[in-house]
Amino acid sequence: MSAEPLEPPVAALFPERAAREQVEDRLTRALAAAAERVLKGPVMPDIDMTEFRRDLAAFDFAAPRPLDEVIDWAIGRLEHGTVHMTHPRYFGLFNPPASFPAQVADRISGAFNPQLASSGSSPAPVAIEQHVIRGFAQRAGLPGESTGHFTTSGSEANYTALVCALTRADPKFAEEGVRAFPGPVAMYTSRECQPAWHKIAHQSGIGRAALRLIATDGAGRMDARALAEAVSEDRRRGIVPVLISTTAGTTGAGMVDPLAACAAIAREGNIWHHVDAAWGGAALCSERLRGELAGIELADSVTIDAHKWLATTMGCGMFITRDPAITSEAFRVGAEFMPSSASSIDPYLNSVQWSRRFMGLRLFLSLAAAGWRGYGAHVERAAQVIASVEARLAALGWSVVNDSRLAILCVLPPEGSAPVKEIVRRMLASGRAWSAVAKLEGRDVLRICATHGETSMADVEELVAALEAAR
Ligand SMILES: *Cc1c(COP(=O)(O)O)cnc(C)c1O
Repeated sequence: MSAEPLEPPVAALFPERAAREQVEDRLTRALAAAAERVLKGPVMPDIDMTEFRRDLAAFDFAAPRPLDEVIDWAIGRLEHGTVHMTHPRYFGLFNPPASFPAQVADRISGAFNPQLASSGSSPAPVAIEQHVIRGFAQRAGLPGESTGHFTTSGSEANYTALVCALTRADPKFAEEGVRAFPGPVAMYTSRECQPAWHKIAHQSGIGRAALRLIATDGAGRMDARALAEAVSEDRRRGIVPVLISTTAGTTGAGMVDPLAACAAIAREGNIWHHVDAAWGGAALCSERLRGELAGIELADSVTIDAHKWLATTMGCGMFITRDPAITSEAFRVGAEFMPSSASSIDPYLNSVQWSRRFMGLRLFLSLAAAGWRGYGAHVERAAQVIASVEARLAALGWSVVNDSRLAILCVLPPEGSAPVKEIVRRMLASGRAWSAVAKLEGRDVLRICATHGETSMADVEELVAALEAAR
């Protein structure tokens, strides 16, 4: 290759402004039209995967294709090849349709593509993220010096909590790993915990056997007495308890562990107390529902996922801690080449990630546009949707088996109905609505969660009718 003159830029990757604007305008209209079609279609994917794989294989990347054509192809396949979280009758897992400001934020951060690793490269974005984190810390009632950072997920935030707990439990952990402890270590969460904890125990090096799944109280909440007993029993055997993780809004049933009682056990044993409020943390926005999370203010650290009930785009988690020094100790590193590596707030010096996307803008724009009050109304609306489903199903003889004021309902059908798994299978086959089977206290239950900000009463009626037809 000769050095000069330079070839022109690759136009397919970096089109000129006029061409770019034309594609963007078309894209805006194409997405709006697709969203309307999704509302009228089935919640479930209806794609023929055999045909699709053939189609996909035809992309051998030898001959470039026009971007417009590939965009249409991608939108069409997403339209038919996913369970639609954007459908108002997706009463599903914690996957929301994204708020509009969050979608706008992705577009803005995609355009500037700031590197959030350091405040030297991205002073304004890093400050914006810190501002949002502090806002949620304050909302949770944590002390004013609390800090934290955005994560790609709740799992990453929970993993961060374990690393912080280990780091605080023994100053030698940083250099020697778990060998630093006088005995094997253990962490505690409940039988109803989110299952990623098993992977977290594995990847952190404490091992899956170090995870204690504490018994629940028959209603899906951690039994605080059983927790206290497990901790003392472990200590008697020379095991070192490092972390208690309570759940505020279990994945299966929206239950909140006895946070204050567990915090007291943690404090007494000098054990790190983490509250996994990945989904339930959104309730902090509502004056009416934040009381459900009472005790969260006692936590050493908290996980809240904005990409769940706060409806940002995926994935947008938060790790918040009352101990501002702990993350700088747990994630410290020296790197001469990094701009302003002396700044203690640099995300790469305080978190798992290095290169980092501007995730926090999604929550900042949403919160700035809606205010706490708007987010509170969004959360309360979901709880109201679930209360309406509950009233209708109860009137038809279904029994409610969870006692949560958050927006998840677990029910069992009237006697003589098909098993829950079969009811869900039939309903999904009908495409009328989406809900899941979950395990609560060891048995299969039908789990209905309000995730969509625009679900209407007509959608509630349709869900109930679909369930009645399927049972
Ligand atoms: C969803 C969830 C997680 C995992 O979060 P991801 O963002 O999916 O990694 C952890 N804990 C609870 C309680 C959750 O609901």
